[in-house]
Amino acid sequence: MEAAWQDVGMPDHERFSFTIGTRLPGKHGRTGVIGTPHGDIATPAFVPVGTKATVKAVLPETMAEIGAQALLANAYHLYLQPGSDIVDEAGGLGRFMNWPGPTVTDSGGFQVMSLGVGFKKVLAMEAVGMQSDEVIAKGKERLAVVDDDGVTFRSHLDGSKHRFTPEVSMGIQHRLGADIMFAFDELTTLFNTRGYQEKSLQRTHEWAQRCIDEHERLTAARSHRPYQALFAVIQGAQYEDLRRKACRDLDAMRGSGGTGFDGYGIGGALEKAKLGTIVGWCSDELPPEKPRHLLGISEPEDFFVAIENGADTFDCVNPSRVARNAAIYLRQGRFNINTARFRRDFTPIDESCDCYTCAHYTRAYIHHLFKAKEMLAATLCTIHNERFTIRLVDDIRAGIDGGYYDEFKAEFLAGWQGRVRL
Ligand SMILES: [Zn+2]
Repeated sequence: MEAAWQDVGMPDHERFSFTIGTRLPGKHGRTGVIGTPHGDIATPAFVPVGTKATVKAVLPETMAEIGAQALLANAYHLYLQPGSDIVDEAGGLGRFMNWPGPTVTDSGGFQVMSLGVGFKKVLAMEAVGMQSDEVIAKGKERLAVVDDDGVTFRSHLDGSKHRFTPEVSMGIQHRLGADIMFAFDELTTLFNTRGYQEKSLQRTHEWAQRCIDEHERLTAARSHRPYQALFAVIQGAQYEDLRRKACRDLDAMRGSGGTGFDGYGIGGALEKAKLGTIVGWCSDELPPEKPRHLLGISEPEDFFVAIENGADTFDCVNPSRVARNAAIYLRQGRFNINTARFRRDFTPIDESCDCYTCAHYTRAYIHHLFKAKEMLAATLCTIHNERFTIRLVDDIRAGIDGGYYDEFKAEFLAGWQGRVRL
């Protein structure tokens, strides 16, 4: 592995770019390179999540060593703590967290609106038998209320009241200074009715227009800062006509100064079984010369489906989140290192892995660290899981470029069983 580690220097002021490399025959999938003022991202790429400007338990240098090309942080969390003005004063997100490479922020909408329903995760929810716009998770108080102008919510930290609008989200994200930002959108769930999805999509598009106008204004006002790209977010849940319409509308949308979106995020409620189909609808409609990001995906089988159907980049908190709960990814599936059978297993987590953890530590030692509640357990397992995920997407990219994607996919999926008991 070669780390693309550079000194933290002044970034140049090149604008955002996307160059397509190899196309997957007969499909939307492709390789490419996203250019940002802080460096390039070879795609398809997995972007690890450092919610509060840190990938929990792991140094940024280590993230570079395991092949992370970019990191994504969360606008909602950084707005509440430490405040986007402080990140701005520090010189932007990358400088603040000592990560010289490309950075991404989400709009904060997902976190804010997740507070509204109390659901942490909208992907792969089973919608069968439940449809209502009033559903909230059991035992949860509604902490966010959406209206046509924005969202009012209470901080999960201290209960204080806040309001996000498209303009507020753009202001926060410009101050955070990430290379790629997302427009503020309304998150719906699979539980929402068709009528609500239509209304919500309309609202998301009105917000997208306000985001692009405010983005133009802030780009001009902050011309001393490196260019920040803005991605629109495609909503529309599981409805083909809504997804396609969302893509066409957002592709055509321009700010008053003529600016279009630099790329697109495919977001919102996605049933796992329809993931490829939905990404495919979006890729049919979106301009091929702009990158497509799929929000919140990291299960190995999902990468293949999504990439074939045209997704270029991914982010997900899962590889690090499950690592802290002793869940480890292997080529055959995910297993838990907390169980007693690993007490005397003096082999690495994964013989085929090239990460620092697998080169130096045994299952018995990592099992011990979890039992003893030592912090190093989280560090070592996060390194492995992030490396596993980054490497899988890198291997898919190499397969497309090398013309052996189908063979690689068949081999990987033949061995993959989801959750495994070793
Ligand atoms: Zn490893």
